[in-house]
Amino acid sequence: MPDIISDISDKDRELIHQSNIFRGVDIEDLVHLISECELLCIESGHTLIQANTRNQHFYVVLTGSMKVYLNATMTEKFIAMLPGDCVGELSLFDGASTSAQVVAASNSRLLKINEETLWRLIRASHSFSRNLLFLLAKRLRHDNITIVDGLQQQQKLENKANVDALTGLFNRHWMNEFFKRQISRALTDNKPLVVILADLDNFKKINDTYGHLAGDDVLSTVARVLNKQIRAADLLARFGGEEFAMILPDTSIDEAKLIAERIRFAVAAKQIKFDGDTHQQTHVTISLGLTSLMLGDDITKILARADKALYQAKEHGRNRIEVI
Ligand code: GH3
Ligand code: MG
Ligand code: MG
Repeated sequence: MPDIISDISDKDRELIHQSNIFRGVDIEDLVHLISECELLCIESGHTLIQANTRNQHFYVVLTGSMKVYLNATMTEKFIAMLPGDCVGELSLFDGASTSAQVVAASNSRLLKINEETLWRLIRASHSFSRNLLFLLAKRLRHDNITIVDGLQQQQKLENKANVDALTGLFNRHWMNEFFKRQISRALTDNKPLVVILADLDNFKKINDTYGHLAGDDVLSTVARVLNKQIRAADLLARFGGEEFAMILPDTSIDEAKLIAERIRFAVAAKQIKFDGDTHQQTHVTISLGLTSLMLGDDITKILARADKALYQAKEHGRNRIEVI
């Protein structure tokens, strides 16, 4: 069952502000309407919208992701909805029953807007109405384009496992798809964005000293520490081996440096337990390479710069951050 939260935090308000539908909207003017909405926390696999039913809500994805299946049988074809995207508007407007099935692809937070509030938002804000028009136009176009080529891409995404079994983080395959999308979104919107590559220091020594299984425990503990330190809108993936990649949307390099230092500190401070019975524990440090999005960037270029920064952090003594 979904959790409903009545109080909308500053962080959620920031995510709402970043969403496509609230882009350029003066949120402060609409606080009274936004406070009428509910925040929904749903777990991966939960069905948000059942196909062939009456839908009375419009949803904004704040964190996590949803799969929109174009038919109720949930065969392989779906469209991914990411933070900032919206679902439910078509059936709300035409009053017909829903044609798509919407299921949470990961644990997600959504803003749930009822029909009455939606109309009041439309009346209260020109920017909101304009965004809604864009969204509807895009949906119509999408119907045509997605069916022809996009679905093939989505299907590929589904066929490969997106989650790394050891750490529970998204894997590199997932990262390539989602990072690419975030990067092109930031470039289009002219918004800052930072990529961080992080690599455990002298990790081979941990394996050599305590064994590979202990090394695995260390990796999954560090993954949990990273997950706790990043903010709701940030994306984290296991890049490979003992390396992790993060993308921080709408973040300046100065903010990112603070976050990276916080991560570095939290990892170094963590007592990592392994081998349950013997209560052994160790510590590990992490080096981080940061780089911010530049004009003309693509995922390959930005990752190459982050990797170079990481290399410098190693060269300069490890357990530190470097920026390029
Ligand atoms: P540096 O500070 O330069 O990064 O040194 P390092 O020892 O961390 O780097 P190196 O690349 O020499 O070694 C990385 C080690 O990480 C080697 C590899 O066996 C280990 N490793 C990679 N993936 C896993 C894993 O899933 N589990 C465990 N236990 N070890 C892993
Ligand atoms: Mg390493
Ligand atoms: Mg490495």
